[in-house]
Amino acid sequence: MKNFTNPVGAGTLWFHNLTTADGTPVAYDPQARAFVPMPPFCANRERIGCNWIAPAEGAFCRSCAMTALAPDPEIPNAIDHWAETEMAKRWVIDNQGRWHWFRPEDPGTRPTFHMLADGHTPTAMGHGDGVVTISVSEADPVVRVTRRTALEEPYRTMIGHMRHEIAHMLWWRLSLREDFLAAFREMFGDERTDYTAALQKHYDQGPPADWELFYLTSYASAHPHEDWAETTASLLHLTDIADSFVTSGLATPELPGNQWDPYSEPDTASLVYVATGIVTRVNHINRSMGLSDLYPYILSETAQRKLAFVHDWMRRGAQGR
Ligand SMILES: [Zn+2]
Ligand SMILES: [Zn+2]
Repeated sequence: MKNFTNPVGAGTLWFHNLTTADGTPVAYDPQARAFVPMPPFCANRERIGCNWIAPAEGAFCRSCAMTALAPDPEIPNAIDHWAETEMAKRWVIDNQGRWHWFRPEDPGTRPTFHMLADGHTPTAMGHGDGVVTISVSEADPVVRVTRRTALEEPYRTMIGHMRHEIAHMLWWRLSLREDFLAAFREMFGDERTDYTAALQKHYDQGPPADWELFYLTSYASAHPHEDWAETTASLLHLTDIADSFVTSGLATPELPGNQWDPYSEPDTASLVYVATGIVTRVNHINRSMGLSDLYPYILSETAQRKLAFVHDWMRRGAQGR
């Protein structure tokens, strides 16, 4: 993610800012990728702190307009958790926009979001026919860490969920093209194999012993759909880590230059080379504060080939080329 120029004074603005340091209201214009000092603000600004501009007074911004269902406000903390979930969504939607997905120039379908709070039963996250369902209750750190531990995952965040579920939606968009499915099946396997049975087997028996040779995560080994979503999420993680790193004025010996734009980099090997150089070092920095690794995955040769496949389709998909 870039950082931004303050339109009304000195200093830098960060993606989630609602005001400048001295309290002047500002809003993010997702088309211009810049902050502006004037309305129309998103209709969700007061309610959940959305800082994007709207196309008209009283309207929702481009991101909030994709949310068709909001959580039941009677469920404790649902609105606060929804607010945090929408922050993660805006971040990922803006990332995807760097490759022109879901922006005005993208003629395809945009995702529809169902943002649900867990009531008596947990909300199952997932995607079907363009609809992404997210459990906003995972914004609660206790819920998230409990599930992360139970599922033996090294990384689980709301932004990670967004990248994973939007990846399923992007697969669906790409699957409508004639040239995608055969190439996908060659790389990831046949996604027409029984999904429910495959997931059940994964939960019953665990991943194959040698999964790390072929998959980025153990969950990716469950089914080609999950392999695609996990690989796509990882590509988004690595690209955005590199972008945020360069934007912050930091450098590593691998960096092609301080003007390098990871979202414009066509060569996956170069992107992965720079990004893994960054994460190796930032993982070390995080350990100095007792924090989890920034990016806790090992990239096998097979995983890198899959990353290159996803990268190619992310870069050209929204254009219909
Ligand atoms: Zn909004
Ligand atoms: Zn999934």
